[in-house]
Amino acid sequence: MDSRKPTGDYEVIIGMEVHAQLDTKSKMFCGCRADVFGAEPNTLVCPVCLGMPGVLPVINRRAVECTIMTGLALNCSIAEFSRFARKNYNYPDLVKGYQISQYELPLCHNGWLEIEADDTTKRVRIERVHLEEDTGKLFHMGTYSLVDYNRSGVPLMEIVSEPDMRSAAEAYAYLTKLRQILRYLGVSSGDMEKGAMRCEVNVSLRPAGTETLGTKVEIKNLNSFRSVKMALEYEIQRQAEILDKGGTVEQVTMGWDEERQRTVVQRSKEFAHDYRYFPEPDLPPLEISREWVAEIRAQLPELPDAKCDRFVAQYGLSVYDATVLSAEREVADYFENCVALYPQAKTVANWISGEIFRRMNEAGLSITEIKVTPQGLAGLLNLVEKGAINLNTARRVFIEMLESGRSAEAIVAEQGLAQMSDIETLERIVDEVLAANPDQVQQYLAGKETVARWLVGQVMKATQGKANPQLVNKSLSEKLQALQRLREDKKSATHL
Ligand SMILES: [Zn+2]
Repeated sequence: MDSRKPTGDYEVIIGMEVHAQLDTKSKMFCGCRADVFGAEPNTLVCPVCLGMPGVLPVINRRAVECTIMTGLALNCSIAEFSRFARKNYNYPDLVKGYQISQYELPLCHNGWLEIEADDTTKRVRIERVHLEEDTGKLFHMGTYSLVDYNRSGVPLMEIVSEPDMRSAAEAYAYLTKLRQILRYLGVSSGDMEKGAMRCEVNVSLRPAGTETLGTKVEIKNLNSFRSVKMALEYEIQRQAEILDKGGTVEQVTMGWDEERQRTVVQRSKEFAHDYRYFPEPDLPPLEISREWVAEIRAQLPELPDAKCDRFVAQYGLSVYDATVLSAEREVADYFENCVALYPQAKTVANWISGEIFRRMNEAGLSITEIKVTPQGLAGLLNLVEKGAINLNTARRVFIEMLESGRSAEAIVAEQGLAQMSDIETLERIVDEVLAANPDQVQQYLAGKETVARWLVGQVMKATQGKANPQLVNKSLSEKLQALQRLREDKKSATHL
């Protein structure tokens, strides 16, 4: 393939199906645990999730609740009547030979999600959100395969968008926003790397300004946000080049080859499945009362967009700061807990997005795992506010706090780091510094004003960084001005 970019004469049409594992304690239709990651193979199983004959599934109420909650957060209508369906296909990781899913009557439908991409805000419509069970997991060992059924029957939510995205960047923004909402709701970890969130995209191109949809290609096996973006960029260009040459795009299912950084055909249209859906006879239909929906709606947490707007209005933060701080619910909570104790929002925001994020990135920790609590950070900032320590010392103390988890007060007291604000002592040190550096003083008097900053540095050094910098600045500039006047007086005296 040459390096030509798409000509821009095509409109890109992207739709997405996202599967998210629900964070429930037990599986979708049995009591086996669903909240253990990395258990010994085939230890979290029972006759129901192993598909033994004669067993009866029972619906997990919490999973239904999580799905309705997601539907509400995605502005969907919630069905009054819904039911499960059998999706028939044969694959070794599917014990029963069918998967219990939903077909013509999903729990949620007709919603939308607002995304920001390419400098605009747009709505991506959500076709449906439904509930199903996960399959087992195959391990290919060369000449044979092994299967682990621990994952078999884990509740899985499928979120299907309308084909409303027009670029890889929009698809990336959609996926990011969707995961953010799932995490805010606490219904799924959304960890793509652990398989807790899986994504399939379909993409087609059509000549700009036309209505008929082009042939769409499905891409599966996308294991990271990055691979979604890369696979789409690659596929858009591939299709554009076929169309440029007057060719036709084939309807196929593709996979993303991470190593070769290209899409590869997995299945052509002739092998498309016929799932022969029919209503699941072992499960009763679901009647979802409006009272229950209202109850779930009342439990919805504040969602990211609303929180971001509130941070701007309530704390006077910039949209940028508010977006950064509301990206994750835990970070937003940390911020608000800290501001409650130290009500200078901008300062707190700067510390979180600077020092705290740096530490989280370096150590690979979440904000709830670092040793400085919101109370701890507020304590440190209050010491600066009171003038007990200066900013330089605060940064040093903060590093100690990250290591030991101790309070700023304790560290400052123990190491004698309190700021030196005693005027007489500071003036004496300033005098000593001036006396010890006559050349620099002369340079200053000759007009080189930047030397003043160097002299401040010398005073800070002489006090191991503990001097109150405002007082040092004041004292030093007063003394230098006095010397300046003296020098001018002398000059005019000589002229006389
Ligand atoms: Zn089970």
